[in-house]
Amino acid sequence: MAVKKSRFRQEAGADDLTNRTEQSYNTREASGKYNDYFTDDMPLSKWVCTEAGHILDVIPFLAGDNHPNVAPGKATHNVDVFVHFGIGVTESAYLCPARMGKGKCPICEFQAELKKQKNYDEEYVKSFNAKRRVVYNVCVYDTHKDEDAGVMIWEASHHLSEKNIMAIARNNRTGAFVKWADPDDGKTIEFARVGKGKSTNYEGFKFTDRDEPISDETLDDAIAIDDYLKYLTYEELVDVMGNMEIEKEEPLKEEAEDQATERTPSRQGRTSRVPKDDAPPATSTTQEDPPQRRSRHQEPDPETNATEEKGVDTEALPTRRLRRSAPETKEEPKTDSAETGTTLTRRQRRPR
Ligand SMILES: [Zn+2]
Repeated sequence: MAVKKSRFRQEAGADDLTNRTEQSYNTREASGKYNDYFTDDMPLSKWVCTEAGHILDVIPFLAGDNHPNVAPGKATHNVDVFVHFGIGVTESAYLCPARMGKGKCPICEFQAELKKQKNYDEEYVKSFNAKRRVVYNVCVYDTHKDEDAGVMIWEASHHLSEKNIMAIARNNRTGAFVKWADPDDGKTIEFARVGKGKSTNYEGFKFTDRDEPISDETLDDAIAIDDYLKYLTYEELVDVMGNMEIEKEEPLKEEAEDQATERTPSRQGRTSRVPKDDAPPATSTTQEDPPQRRSRHQEPDPETNATEEKGVDTEALPTRRLRRSAPETKEEPKTDSAETGTTLTRRQRRPR
């Protein structure tokens, strides 16, 4: 073995990985998702998990200063993140500050506002959930090209990856865990991805023995992933949310009175009309998907679209505009806003 020891081998505590493994196991039920919420200086390339069989090692690392669950300098094998997908006109992904322990999240607040509406569209509201994703340093051995690539970043659905790995890592009788991420005693992971889009699944997870321990060079190549997570400030997030506005149909009064019943019909009418009136953007394959934001539900890459997303395909998302300012204006459409997408503008004008 190399004379020079990697920083990981020098500094990793004996129980770090075991602790992290147990921690990860214990929180495996939460849900999660991904995109470009990494900083621009992220040095490693992303590995794309194609529809095929895969063989890889997860390379542990020492947490940086921003790991949400692990103390700086402690060994870990992943970073859990919570991400809002399909936000704003660019349909980008952003870390949820609230779920990441960084403070208030305007997207979560927006969702909460939506829920206050009577007769809200559940699927629509659900689409704003922060999804749980997991990010790993990995060495992939599928092809020579993969091997030559060295350490890469794998950003995966927690539901499809970590949960499945943990399922085979735990001895149900003793409760002990296989130290699969350990650089010396760890295991190579094999599994297959089947299906695409929402029907994607990862199957056949199994551990196999490694030919040799993870090299010091490889350990040194692994990055403290948490140091490359991009957090936007509250204001920046509000900015990217752009024209997301809740249509408060009868602002002041309806809150006091119970005029909800009036809204029901109007909303339904709108909903069913969506597919016809609004020509969906070219990208859509589902007939009734409205404006851009919704398209996140049909992201082609399941890596970013876990099975937990099942069932969220078609939706007519009617009311997505939130008039942050002066709801008293009733439904005075803000057509003046430069940020208002055409689809939305059109929608705003729809007859009540
Ligand atoms: Zn959030």
